[in-house]
Amino acid sequence: MNQNSVPATDAISKLVQEFSKLPGIGPKSAQRVTFYLLRAPDEQSRLLAEALLSLKQKITLCSTCFNVTESDPCPICRHPERDTSQICIVEQPQDILALEHTGIYKGLYHVLHGAISPTEGIGSEDIRIKELLSRLQNSTVEEVILATNTNLEGEQTAMYLSQLIAPLGIKVTRLARGLPFGTELEYADDVTLTRALEGRQEF
Ligand SMILES: [Zn+2]
Repeated sequence: MNQNSVPATDAISKLVQEFSKLPGIGPKSAQRVTFYLLRAPDEQSRLLAEALLSLKQKITLCSTCFNVTESDPCPICRHPERDTSQICIVEQPQDILALEHTGIYKGLYHVLHGAISPTEGIGSEDIRIKELLSRLQNSTVEEVILATNTNLEGEQTAMYLSQLIAPLGIKVTRLARGLPFGTELEYADDVTLTRALEGRQEF
């Protein structure tokens, strides 16, 4: 079936419209995916629809680290072999995936769900900093690794956090400069991330 031979029905344009709202998908890609699904076996659409629905039904945030999880606490927080003396601070849950993929970090995480950005009106109270501080109070944490992105917002957030955390007597480190400025952690490769972790510096 040629794409052009299918008239744009309501069902088609509706799906194209929904796909177009997704990050990184323009109208052309949205159309391509829609027509692909139209031609694909029914089973594929059903699996996609089920996966989409269960995403919101099953996924919640870990009440300790605020990672996305299907069970609270998340598998990392409740893992008996994780090193509870280290907490790595990241902006987004995807960053945990990138760091876990390197396989060298065995500590815990804390997801801020954003970074401080005065230009976008995001202040310290809009991300999970309060929760981080109460987690650090009276804890056995010895080191906090700041793994926010290396862009302006990430650097500002790291600076702000180090000023809050250092007085608690906890060592604060920042990922090494192996990461080029402007890097979003989730897109960094394993080798770069591993080097950045291993070469982390006291902040
Ligand atoms: Zn957790």
